[in-house]
Amino acid sequence: MKTLKSLIHLLTSRRSQFFLNAQTEIAKNNLKILRKVSTTALMILFFYYIATIFMFQNEQLSLIYQVFIIIHLIFVVFSHQYSKKQAFSFSLIQSVCALFVVSIMVFTILVSIVPYPDRPGIFFPLLYLAMSLIFMFTLWEINLLMTSLNVLFITCVFNFKAIEAFVYDIFAAVTAWILGLALTSLVLNLRLREGEANIYLNKISMTDALTTLPNRRSFNLYIEKAYANCVQTKQSMAIIIIDIDNFKYFNDTYGHTNGDECLSLIGSAFKSYSDKKGLFTARYGGEEFIAVLHGKQVEHATEYAKGFQKCVKNCAIKTTKSETGYITISIGVAVEEKPETESYMTILNNADDALYEAKANGRNQIVMYKPKFKLKNTHLR
Ligand code: GH3
Ligand code: MG
Ligand code: MG
Repeated sequence: MKTLKSLIHLLTSRRSQFFLNAQTEIAKNNLKILRKVSTTALMILFFYYIATIFMFQNEQLSLIYQVFIIIHLIFVVFSHQYSKKQAFSFSLIQSVCALFVVSIMVFTILVSIVPYPDRPGIFFPLLYLAMSLIFMFTLWEINLLMTSLNVLFITCVFNFKAIEAFVYDIFAAVTAWILGLALTSLVLNLRLREGEANIYLNKISMTDALTTLPNRRSFNLYIEKAYANCVQTKQSMAIIIIDIDNFKYFNDTYGHTNGDECLSLIGSAFKSYSDKKGLFTARYGGEEFIAVLHGKQVEHATEYAKGFQKCVKNCAIKTTKSETGYITISIGVAVEEKPETESYMTILNNADDALYEAKANGRNQIVMYKPKFKLKNTHLR
C-alpha cells in the first residue's frame, strides 16, 4: 500500500513538475493541434451536413449541424489568429482546448440522442476516445473532463432514449470510459517521456558543460532575437565582452586541469552574478565570456562590467603572470543607443575593438568603445 502511494506520488509529481516547466511548449503544441483539428472538424461537419440533408432529411439533425458549424468556425478563427501572437497564455489555450473537447462531445451526444432516440449512437465511443487523447492535459484534468462528459451522455441516454437503444449506448459509454482511462495514462506517459527528453536535449545543446553558462549557440539565438526586439521597440543595447588575461600562460604553467578549474570557477561566479542581476551571460568561446544588455540595463553597463571584475577578484585564483598576483580579466563594452541596422555585428565588433584596446593598454581594465579604435583594428574587416 505504502509502495503504491509513493509510486502514485512519484508519477504525479513528475507529471505536474513537467506541466510547470514546459508550459510554453505544451501551450504551443496544443494550439497547433487545435488549429489542425478544428479546421478538420469544420470540414467534416460541413460535408456530413450536406450528406445528412440528402440522406436523412431530418430537420433536427440539420439544425444541430448548423449550430455546431458556427461554433467550430469560431474555434478555427481563434486558433489561426492566436497562433500569430508572440506570447501565449497557457491557461487560455488549455481552456479553449477543453472547450473544444466539450463542444465536440456535446455535438456527439446530441446527434446520438435527438434525431433517432430509438437507435444506438455509433459515434460516441469513437469520439470519446479520440477526444481523450488529442490534447495534452494532466491526467486528472482530462479524466475529470471526459468522465463528466460520459456522465452527461449516460444521463441524457437514460432520460431520452428508448430502452432498446439505451442498453447499447450504456455498454458503449462504459467501455469507452474504461479504455479512455487506460489510454490517457499510456499516451500521457509516452508524451512526457518524449517531452522530457526534448527539454533535456535542448538544455544540454544550449549549455556549456564546463561553466554551466549558456553556450555560443545559445548566445547566437539570444542576441538575434534581443537585437530584433531592440530595433522594434527602439531600446538601446550594450555588449560586454570579457577575456581572461594571460590564460595561455596559466594553462602552460599550471596545466589544463587547473585551467579548466579556473574557467569553471569564474563561469559559476558569472552565472550567479548574472542570475542575480537578470543578465544574459554566455561563454563566448575559450576563455571569453559575453553579456548582452538591453533597455534600462544599458545605463548600468559600466557597473555590470565592474561587477564581473569583482566576481573574478573574489575567485582569487593565484598566478605569477599578473601584477596583482591573481587572475584578472579585460573587458570591452559597446553601446548602441538606437539599434537600427539589420545585424548586431556592428555592436559586437565594437565591443571586440574595445576589448582589444583594453589588452593593448596593459590588461586588467574596462574599456568603453570609442569610434577612434576602429582606425587601429581594421585588419580582416
Ligand atoms: P590575453 O591576455 O591576450 O587574452 O592572452 P591569453 O593567453 O589569455 O590568450 P590566448 O588567446 O593566447 O590564449 C587563450 C588560451 O585559452 C589558449 C587555450 O589553451 C586556453 N583555453 C581555451 N579554452 C580552454 C578550455 O576549455 N580549457 C582550458 N584549460 N584552456 C582553454
Ligand atoms: Mg581570448
Ligand atoms: Mg585571454
